[in-house]
Amino acid sequence: MTEIIKIPCIAGDGIGDDIWSASREIFEEALIKGTAGQKKIKWIPLLAGLKALEKEDKLLPDKTLETVKEYKIAIKGPLTTPVGGGFRSVNVHLRQIFDLYTCVRPVRYFKGLPSPLKTPEKVDVIILRENTEDIYKGIEWKEGTEESKMILDFLKNKMNVSLSSDTGIGIKPISKTGTVRFTKWAIDYAIKNKRRSITVVHKGNIMKYTEGAFREWAYEVAKEYPKAISFEESDEKILFNDRIADNMFMQMILRPDEYDILLCPNLNGDYLSDACAALIGGLGVAPGANIGDNVAIFEPTHGSAPKYAGKDMVNPTSLILSGALMFRYMGFDAVATLIEKAVEETIQNGLVTYDLARQMVDVKPVSSSRFGREVAERL
Ligand code: NAD
Repeated sequence: MTEIIKIPCIAGDGIGDDIWSASREIFEEALIKGTAGQKKIKWIPLLAGLKALEKEDKLLPDKTLETVKEYKIAIKGPLTTPVGGGFRSVNVHLRQIFDLYTCVRPVRYFKGLPSPLKTPEKVDVIILRENTEDIYKGIEWKEGTEESKMILDFLKNKMNVSLSSDTGIGIKPISKTGTVRFTKWAIDYAIKNKRRSITVVHKGNIMKYTEGAFREWAYEVAKEYPKAISFEESDEKILFNDRIADNMFMQMILRPDEYDILLCPNLNGDYLSDACAALIGGLGVAPGANIGDNVAIFEPTHGSAPKYAGKDMVNPTSLILSGALMFRYMGFDAVATLIEKAVEETIQNGLVTYDLARQMVDVKPVSSSRFGREVAERL
């Protein structure tokens, strides 16, 4: 008998509908094929972002939050945060509500993708980004406000630090608790997935008690795994090392094959995700997952790109591959592999959307919907 698997989904704003329409059938087909007809998807569509604001006067309706909490999983497209919408970012807020403390962003070259690198096949890294701390806590005060004046006075009178009176203030919190649980998650992930190395990416030479501490705490955790982790090159164990962030950006371009898992505080992970995506075709192909102890939400790395909305033009690959990550997380490895192979084959056949075609010579772009159909046919 066929088992029905219910999955909450949020199409998202801007290009959300374009990429969702191109991906939905791929997910449905792949689950049926990858489980020999034993499982079938039933979507539970949910509202969030601008559509939710229009219909329910709320960016994140209670029903959406309750349903995601109940099913512990969701797949979503990008959400626009309206300026003055009450949230700094609806996406960041969603990650904080469900304490989705690890963001997983695999960046792997598929044959056929355009790249500014001479040997892009050397790119195969997983960016693990701490998702709840750092400047994304949103603790900041505008220049000239009563609050920023209070902080400036406190710094001057209690800490002997004098700053110009027209200074804006931001606070960058990174805790030992947050870093330890994130590093444990990363090491468990590396062991389970047989990865080669973990590199801590930090700017600890300048921010000693935030990023420097992140590095120290990560090493402390790593030392608790002597059977699995080594701090020197070793054939059997996972190499644990670190790089200063600016150097890491250079290394990813010059020697990408020397890196495997990048363990990043929130902001470094944000920057590196887009920079690494650029090496393998751009944001349109970079998938992502936000994972906590109870809930996981899968989503593309890119935003809602409003100027392309409704044009059936953008690349749905990032969402399609985020779906593959979701199936792997659910234990359907064969389904995930089917999707990844079909995407790779489609791209190798020169069937790509405008964002990739414009980086290639003599390649005519296909629409989002056509790309989706071509992937579905190759499952
Ligand atoms: P964006 O990622 O939406 O777009 C930047 C550019 O990248 C686009 O103009 C387009 O050229 C390209 N691009 C993005 N996705 C593409 C795709 N699938 N195919 C082809 N090209 C693609 O970033 P932005 O313009 O800075 O942000 C727009 C909105 O998205 C903002 O409201 C922002 O808050 C939101 N946002 C949401 C998420 C999320 O939902 N997780 C992430 C980032 C930004």
